[in-house]
Amino acid sequence: MLFSGSYSEGQCMKCGHKIARSTPTSLLFFVLLAGGGIAVVVPQLARLYGPKWWYFASVGGAELILVIVILTVLVWIRDRVLGSMETCPQCSGTMKPTISGMYDFRWLPTLLDVVLLVIFVAVHIGIILWLRTASGAGG
Ligand SMILES: [Zn+2]
Repeated sequence: MLFSGSYSEGQCMKCGHKIARSTPTSLLFFVLLAGGGIAVVVPQLARLYGPKWWYFASVGGAELILVIVILTVLVWIRDRVLGSMETCPQCSGTMKPTISGMYDFRWLPTLLDVVLLVIFVAVHIGIILWLRTASGAGG
């Protein structure tokens, strides 16, 4: 439920080596991250530039885009590091997909979930520090 995503497994037709990959696609997880981001960023903006109702909509949209961009980059990096699912990393034989589908009702995060969360928090620490600096310069 909290952590759901797509899961796929492949097996090498030459040496039998197996690969398993999962990618988080949980909307609930993304909404929670975006909500946390709104809760952190909106008060800072309100303090700096005065309260505006549209902060929630614009920051919320930006947060969701941020989550999806970070996730896309992470998946891209992972596939560059681990290689594609089509070629065996051990003998470069052809991989045959064995299982492919969605998993759901999972309460434990995958490594990708954790990395996504860590980068998301780090980006927000950066945003807050940047806003603090901006407010210091502007008075
Ligand atoms: Zn192989």
